[in-house]
Amino acid sequence: MIAHNRPFISPEDRAAVDAVLASGWIAQGPAVKGLEECFIRQHGGGAACAVASGTAALFLALQALGAASGQAKVAVPSYACSALLNAVFMAGAQPRVVDVLPDTFCLDPDALQRQAPDAGFAIAVHTYGAVADCTAMKRTGRVVIEDCCHAPAGSVPVLGEVGEAAVYSFYATKVVTGGQGGLVWSRDPAVVDKVLDYRQFDCREHYVPRFNFQMTDIQAALAHSQMQRIDAIRERRAFIASEYLSAIPSGLSAQAGLAETGRMVYRFVVLAPNREIRNALQTYLKANGIECAVPVEKFELLHRYLKLDPEQYPHSERLTDITLSLPMHLGLSSADVSSICGVLSRFQI
Ligand SMILES: *Cc1c(COP(=O)(O)O)cnc(C)c1O
Repeated sequence: MIAHNRPFISPEDRAAVDAVLASGWIAQGPAVKGLEECFIRQHGGGAACAVASGTAALFLALQALGAASGQAKVAVPSYACSALLNAVFMAGAQPRVVDVLPDTFCLDPDALQRQAPDAGFAIAVHTYGAVADCTAMKRTGRVVIEDCCHAPAGSVPVLGEVGEAAVYSFYATKVVTGGQGGLVWSRDPAVVDKVLDYRQFDCREHYVPRFNFQMTDIQAALAHSQMQRIDAIRERRAFIASEYLSAIPSGLSAQAGLAETGRMVYRFVVLAPNREIRNALQTYLKANGIECAVPVEKFELLHRYLKLDPEQYPHSERLTDITLSLPMHLGLSSADVSSICGVLSRFQI
């Protein structure tokens, strides 16, 4: 069976982790600092704070930007992971769920105006590496947090610089992993200072509630080592995506916005005409030794978790019926890719 997703750990990654283990300093320390500096370099400036997870990064960015007042409304795309809702609730803010665009799967700026006129904040996910239109969201006066968990500072041009803050995840299934971990980057050092203050919970003269959201040097060394080859990772993923794109049989299509040069392809998602054909495609690929995944199931849609009317979210609803994610990771050999392309191209609708 060809796996849908698998972390890729190189000998250099192992050596970097070994060096931390041998150093005697395994908690947050110089390797975390090194990872932060790497993201500052990628963005050509600003400030960064590495934290325990992408969810923690979202929560801390909301808090640092003033969304934890109790009254703040935060727009989130419906077609996204529940981490967004968790961060909003943990910050004590109120979510406003907005439908996504049917082609890029990213938050729809027009729906934002319609469904969340009162939201002062918006979390824009660059879904699977496609670019969310943060400029349009800013134009209507929103404070934007760019969720770059699918595109870890390896896109060209780099994502995350339109909004007030960018957040990253280094969870095991992401493009760059530390096992777990996250990071907040902002052009504005004052925003990151607030995140740093919250993370640095001990040895403080002035007490306010803070929390241990630290990342270990073990995790940071792994993620930083992977970041060293981010350009090669992006190119390999783009190559796999272009192979898949040319193998897609007529009747199926792919998510828009990932074929352009410079995009970081986190997932390669195929769209079928309807749920029956999508399910048939998944069964067919599985029978041919290819593991695929429905990237977001209907019950996971954020409006469904909040028991909101599904009819207000037609694009998100439909995406859960017709999408299937193909294997996309660095462990795929060229033989795997050709074999997947061959099988895919022979699918009869
Ligand atoms: C993974 C992910 C998160 C949460 O990150 P964790 O590190 O798992 O907490 C948030 N947003 C998006 C888009 C993600 O893919």
